[in-house]
Amino acid sequence: MRFAKSALGRAPCDGYRRAVTPAPADDTALEAAACARCGKPTALCVCADIVPLDNRVALLILQHPQEQDRELGTARLTALQLKRAVLKIGLSWPSLSKAYGKEVDPKRWAVLYLGSVASAVLPREREVIAVDGKGAALPDQDRLLKGIEGVVLLDGTWSQAKTLWWRNPWVLKCRRIVLNPKERSRYGKLRREPRREGLSTLEAAALTLARLGNQPEIETGLLALFSRLLDRYRQASRAV
Ligand SMILES: [Zn+2]
Repeated sequence: MRFAKSALGRAPCDGYRRAVTPAPADDTALEAAACARCGKPTALCVCADIVPLDNRVALLILQHPQEQDRELGTARLTALQLKRAVLKIGLSWPSLSKAYGKEVDPKRWAVLYLGSVASAVLPREREVIAVDGKGAALPDQDRLLKGIEGVVLLDGTWSQAKTLWWRNPWVLKCRRIVLNPKERSRYGKLRREPRREGLSTLEAAALTLARLGNQPEIETGLLALFSRLLDRYRQASRAV
């Protein structure tokens, strides 16, 4: 049953698979069947645990068409777990509103910034930080981050995400933010993340939406789902 892969419009990308450590113990077992909803092999499906959360700050995930991590990718799960989230797969869209599918104001949205940031000078007490075009923290963070209505996350390897950034120049109209997480990624050694702060897409969304929307329950709910996925993955890897 391979329909899920084509339904998601994904193309094979061996390069990304090589970045996964360790490789799934038995790809053929994991490829055997996939859930039509989340696209995961059924052994890793956690759809039964999904109860969509009522997020105040909306989320738009742009996924590079060659992002290919069926086992541990988290973009689709994140979108399924949130009431106000859109996942789009492609390379470019004419505007934020077109990508999101609804008229929105890019000045009231934030985008996770990909450029280099001097993390040593980021304010320690903050986990979501507004930065300027050079990646330096701006003064008056509270004012800048207040009233943010939505967040754009770019999903893919670091170079794929960079491509998405440059192919969608409207992201420059959005407030740039960087993450300064207190906790490390729950991926542990399972995967090296391309994102600068080392978080999965789900963890980055959890942290950003919880802090900007002042909704800690969003982070708790998303991370619980992520833990279920990682448990399933470890079980499946041991079982074969
Ligand atoms: Zn599923």
